[in-house]
Amino acid sequence: MSQTTTANQAGAEALSSICRAILDRRRFLLTSHARPDGDSIGSQLAMAYALEALGKEVRLVNADAAPDHYRDFPGVDRIEIADRSVATADALIVMECSDLSRTGVAGLDDHFIINIDHHAGNRMYGALNWFDESAAACGEMVFDVIRGLGVPLSPDIATHIYLAILTDTGSFHHSNITPRTFDICRQTVEAGVNPAAMARRVFDSNSFGKLKLIGALLDSMELIDNGRLAVLTMDDEMLKICGCTHNDTEGVINLPLTAREIQAVVFFKIGSAGEVRVSMRSKYDVDVRAVATAYGGGGHKNAAGFTVPGRLADVRPPIVDRLVAAIAEGLKSRP
Ligand code: 5GP
Ligand code: MN
Repeated sequence: MSQTTTANQAGAEALSSICRAILDRRRFLLTSHARPDGDSIGSQLAMAYALEALGKEVRLVNADAAPDHYRDFPGVDRIEIADRSVATADALIVMECSDLSRTGVAGLDDHFIINIDHHAGNRMYGALNWFDESAAACGEMVFDVIRGLGVPLSPDIATHIYLAILTDTGSFHHSNITPRTFDICRQTVEAGVNPAAMARRVFDSNSFGKLKLIGALLDSMELIDNGRLAVLTMDDEMLKICGCTHNDTEGVINLPLTAREIQAVVFFKIGSAGEVRVSMRSKYDVDVRAVATAYGGGGHKNAAGFTVPGRLADVRPPIVDRLVAAIAEGLKSRP
């Protein structure tokens, strides 16, 4: 069976520098982006368990708590939640962040930073930077670091790598999946991951409140551009009526894409501070990242987001126009 390979020579060099830097240091602080998702949680904890297997000291800090359905995964309760870190460490490993500010945690700048990320437009803010846009999940890159460190895949490490890949590929729907993705997944399954149980834990663990919220969101869904664009809108009142929190919205955005005609979805979440949080998903070559970057956000071709100040009625029309244009462009190369 072929070895998992990194994307290119520069990537291989960055990977080996990172492994050397880790082996030379003892105390680590690990972080990832605000409002963490499965890839940020999985990447962080896989890295944490690998470093501890080498006898290193590890602390983890994030700006926000993990969504409920990740809370009983191993080690999630160890992640400190803070908007400022006072931890001292020999190195800070930042995963899944194109920019240090994506962490939402202040006080990190003075560390020796190791930046591991797969988001296009990474700002290379670390002392060591490994950026690989071809990775389907940051967890793929963390897997390579763990292999590079010579740490065997324990069941906990394998679980978190699989979690990262399962969620960041949109359960194997997005267009950035490669043979490397399945090669890594194969190795995690050999190390004890049960894919059926993982899918149930991650995707089939909704509360009744979340089901109500899904019903309310789909009921009020608007279809634009002959049904090619779906628009979901939510405010805090809707969350309250359904007995939900913001964490319960995770994954809901993928549901409209199960309709054959729908090529892209935009989900507007109206914030209490006069801002609108915008999440987008798409099929095949419809590039929602280009829309996000126009507003200072980011992400991937099929999954991207940003936050924009203002009232929904004002901010929505140009975003919808850009998405309709992105759909027309993406459909030109439909397989
Ligand atoms: P989500 O819609 O699930 O919040 O995010 C989808 C993807 O877009 C993720 O890869 C996430 O990291 C990225 N993303 C979401 N919001 C932002 C943002 O405000 N800035 C940047 N740079 N990326 C974002
Ligand atoms: Mn990711």
